[in-house]
Amino acid sequence: MKTNIQQFYIRGKWQTPASDTQIYTVLNPATQDVVATFPLGSEADVEAAVNAAADAFPEWSSLPASERQQWLLRLADAMQERAQEFAQAHTQTMGCPVMHVDDLHVLGPIEGLRKTAALVGCLADEQRTDEVLITHEAAGVCALINPWNYPLHQLIGKLAPALLAGCTVVVKPAEQTPLQDFILAQIIDDIGLPAGVFNLVFGEGAVVGSVMAQHPKVDLVSFTGSSRVGKTIGAEATQHIKKVCLELGGKSALIITEDANLEDAIRYGIENVMLNSGQTCDALTRMLLPRHLKQQAEALAVDIAQNITVGDPQDPSVFMGPLCNLLQQQRVLDYIQTGINEGATLLTGGLSLPQGMDSGAYVMPTLFSDVTENMTIAKEEIFGPVLCILYYDNIKEAIAIANNTEYGLSSGVYAKDYDSALGIARKLRAGQTYLQGAFFNYDAPFGGFKQSGNGREWTQSGLMEYTETKAFISPNAKEV
Ligand code: NAD
Repeated sequence: MKTNIQQFYIRGKWQTPASDTQIYTVLNPATQDVVATFPLGSEADVEAAVNAAADAFPEWSSLPASERQQWLLRLADAMQERAQEFAQAHTQTMGCPVMHVDDLHVLGPIEGLRKTAALVGCLADEQRTDEVLITHEAAGVCALINPWNYPLHQLIGKLAPALLAGCTVVVKPAEQTPLQDFILAQIIDDIGLPAGVFNLVFGEGAVVGSVMAQHPKVDLVSFTGSSRVGKTIGAEATQHIKKVCLELGGKSALIITEDANLEDAIRYGIENVMLNSGQTCDALTRMLLPRHLKQQAEALAVDIAQNITVGDPQDPSVFMGPLCNLLQQQRVLDYIQTGINEGATLLTGGLSLPQGMDSGAYVMPTLFSDVTENMTIAKEEIFGPVLCILYYDNIKEAIAIANNTEYGLSSGVYAKDYDSALGIARKLRAGQTYLQGAFFNYDAPFGGFKQSGNGREWTQSGLMEYTETKAFISPNAKEV
């Protein structure tokens, strides 16, 4: 079924674009059928949306936080009712298999929304000394710009804390995944959120995103996407000294120690990368193994990778669907060619496509061994189902290899037990470390060190990004 989106959601209404505009077409990456069309916004549309958010801010930010909490809970209930539509939107626009789509892309974000609502008490957390009272207030009008790889999850990770803190927002989804935001805007309209609190403009990053990042009435820009665009947005946003939260790329390492359960650890590492067809910012795409286990590890890894089912995302037995689109497929195939050219050993997968799936954006689960730290595939984010195996001679070297990256989003350690893993993980320069085969957790703050970004999402840390600290000073703070 094709969805023709014709309007933007601004000031509590669906509004026609300010001027004649180009139409963007979204294709199903498995079939190349048209899934959706939508208009590309202009500077005038962003202007209208930002003005709506600025006008709504005084009243929304003045509500008791408990009232805003109730709005979030109403939103979560209404999202639950349309969970099936959200799931279908993910499968159609980004090819997520039905095996994973509910947990990964729909129920997870709804859980994250409820958990954010439960943080309301943090906003009342005032500190007093004899002469000073410290409070937290809403940061203001926020521009929320998102990627296509976890569209609803990324949107809720920004929207929920922003609204709870008392901010108003202008949202721009990635061009490839407009449906998730479109459904959410319909829900927001249905529940009657006050006009102007949430505004949605579709469009290209270089136009709509860039105008949002530079707009003088925008107080905070929260961006998730590539480090390349993050740097541009950071530079643009400084013109008006905005707060900027950047959630960027990664090239995370999984250290497997010699005394770990090798098969469990390798299976975990491979499935971690192949989930979402490798298009996960915190995927553990560099697997570090003890050199003396090379032969045994490679035999296990090939067997595990070759048993991953690739195919039609509508088929309930399929673990891995296509990539988001043909452009992404080509990018990943180019990286695979680079790995071959630079002398890495291709263990399985590679340039050939799954049989009978020529029209889809598929790439086979691909393993490279004998990867060295200076190879392109060891340094750059591939964003596809490609795992690089590197070998180490001692644990000190493993930690050095893991940290030898310009990124610092995530990491993992699989050792004999939790304590041994934690000891190694404490030495890794990354915002998160998954121990002993752990998965994403909405109770853990998420964000990067180094060029993986400067913000945090989820939990109290994520909420406080959307606040400003304010101090009241008097000879006796009790009088404030
Ligand atoms: P991208 O940087 O190309 O685009 C992200 C968003 O920015 C899109 O909405 C795009 O339209 C917009 N954009 C593009 N150019 C812009 C500009 N000049 N000004 C303003 N906005 C602009 O990224 P992508 O390809 O959509 O997503 C993949 C990237 O996102 C990967 O690098 C991945 O690691 C990263 N990512 C990071 C996290 C995290 O939390 N750290 C989560 C998911 C994805």
